[in-house]
Order: sequence, then structure tokens, then C-alpha cells
Amino acid sequence: MSKKQRYEIKTECPQCGCSMLTVLSDEEIQKRYGDNPRFHMDCGECQAQFEKPREEVCPEWDKECKMKES
Ligand SMILES: [Zn+2]
Repeated sequence: MSKKQRYEIKTECPQCGCSMLTVLSDEEIQKRYGDNPRFHMDCGECQAQFEKPREEVCPEWDKECKMKES
């Protein structure tokens, strides 16, 4: 079993400005977003739907990818 990495997805709603934090495992991210480089988000406050690029909401994901490659 490989160790489970968890990622913090931080976003700010462009409509109401509230910030959201979602913690997902690598598996959950794959299941939810697949290979989509843009994450589709729903605001829990105003129900706005928006998309953010993966590297913007989750810098840790990027870091992990680079570590895997090197
Ligand atoms: Zn909102």
C-alpha cells in the first residue's frame, strides 16, 4: 500500500468572496476531477459555480508531481 497523500484545495468564491478549504486524497481528486486541469467548484454560501486551474487551488499537487518526476 502506498501512503495516502492528502491535498488542501483552497479557493475563493469570485461572487461572494468567501474562502473554502477542501481536503481530498489523491484518489478522491482523480475520481472528482479526473485529468481535468481545471477544478469545478461550487460555493457553499451563494451556490455560485466556477472553475479554477489546478495549480492555483492546489500548489501542493504541483509540488508532488515535480517530486515524482525527478
Ligand atoms: Zn460564494
